[in-house]
Amino acid sequence: MSGKENAAGPIPHEVIVVGAGAAGLMCARTLADAGVGVLVLEARTRIGGRIRTFRPADGGPPLELGAQVVHGAESRVHALAGPLDLVPRTVDARAVVDGKAAALAVLAHGGRAPWALQHRLNGAPGAVGGSVADWLAAQHLSPAETRAAHEWFAQHWAVDPARLDTHAVAAAHLGDGVGDGEYAVPGGLDSLTDRLAAGLDVRCGVPVRSVEWSPGRAHAVTDDDGPTARALVVTVPPAVVATGRLKIAALPAAKSDAAARLPAGDACCLVVTYSRPAPAAPLTPTVVFDADGVRGFVTSHAGRHQVLVVAKAAAAEAVRTAASDSHESVGRLLVAALPWTARARVTGVTVADWGASPWSLGGFTHAGPEAASAADAWARPLDGTLFFAGEATAAGHRLPWMHSALDSGLRAAHDVLAAVRP
Ligand SMILES: Cc1cc2nc3c(=O)[nH]c(=O)nc-3n(C[C@H](O)[C@H](O)[C@H](O)COP(=O)(O)OP(=O)(O)OC[C@H]3O[C@@H](n4cnc5c(N)ncnc54)[C@H](O)[C@@H]3O)c2cc1C
Repeated sequence: MSGKENAAGPIPHEVIVVGAGAAGLMCARTLADAGVGVLVLEARTRIGGRIRTFRPADGGPPLELGAQVVHGAESRVHALAGPLDLVPRTVDARAVVDGKAAALAVLAHGGRAPWALQHRLNGAPGAVGGSVADWLAAQHLSPAETRAAHEWFAQHWAVDPARLDTHAVAAAHLGDGVGDGEYAVPGGLDSLTDRLAAGLDVRCGVPVRSVEWSPGRAHAVTDDDGPTARALVVTVPPAVVATGRLKIAALPAAKSDAAARLPAGDACCLVVTYSRPAPAAPLTPTVVFDADGVRGFVTSHAGRHQVLVVAKAAAAEAVRTAASDSHESVGRLLVAALPWTARARVTGVTVADWGASPWSLGGFTHAGPEAASAADAWARPLDGTLFFAGEATAAGHRLPWMHSALDSGLRAAHDVLAAVRP
């Protein structure tokens, strides 16, 4: 029997990868480079998953509706992008507090500023315990400081701090190991996923409804029957499986339990176009952190008509509600963050609703109390035939970012190679 057959007959592809996000494309790229015949099936009509770049019709620079920046100076993304594609990101940061625009300095009360508290927690694995909300309550903060810190953690983890575990947050930061700094990709983050996908056989607009498998053979059931292969890599967010949008036959209880324990927090992003551009100064982007908990981060660029809103946790619902109501509602919501828009009209809104999308069901996995054990169970291969990747497979061990997704794709590819090319 050849490597492409088993008792049930010929197998046209060696490996199927479900999902063309960072993890799936990294996995497929690695397999293809090793000479493995790989097919990628993607439910959406585009590749990239939670990397989604918006290109304004007026030809202005791209904005990111999903992943925003590359974290760390030593992540895999740098090697993938090459030095010319990444630039250190500097911003003019501001805040909204009690419905009013303010300098960020109003939140900077020495060691009690939100980012200082975050830094303190990240540097203390083992020395803490319980929820982040409880930890904040023990920091002797004023009510205003507590509120700002809650919102800061909510925007960084896409979930209320009551559901964040201090051990898991600190361990994820410690385990991440990609160094400091933030980098922008001026050409758009989708240039990275395009580069990974170049030359691969990727079929978009093909949701996999279920996976049927036995050792050495996996069938991806699509609306058009679907392909069969020697092995299959699942890179979809666990919630897609937990909610039955992708059914996996004979999934062990430990796996389905793990999928249910790895929810992603809510996220909703907008590009809002105004009838007039943002004022000329400063030249760096202005990022407004909304401590009131209804706007997330609002970014504008001098001279540009488009404004980016990246809202998570409760703020995601506030932004979603405004966007589904009317342009005027969006304008009313944002005017506190961008006072110059009082004299402008909203002329267009593009929505990336990660929480509502059936193919993501949230922004990214948060560091809850069970995240690490659930991620380990979710990542474990089944019978050398089904493999699992995606940012959620690193939950509680690393940060839920692009580089973790890429690394998980690489790890799964090596596991697949060991199974199909022993
Ligand atoms: C608002 C927001 C901000 C973020 N900010 C940052 C940031 O600044 N920096 C950073 O590094 N990371 C950031 N992230 C996280 C980053 O986007 C993710 O970690 C990463 O993109 C996840 O990649 P993935 O391959 O694991 O999952 P995904 O990108 O979700 O890929 C999974 C793919 O599977 C597809 N799929 C799902 N179900 C099926 C099915 N049944 N059949 C076929 N295909 C299916 C999906 O459409 C998707 O393309 C952010 C995410 C969000 C949402």
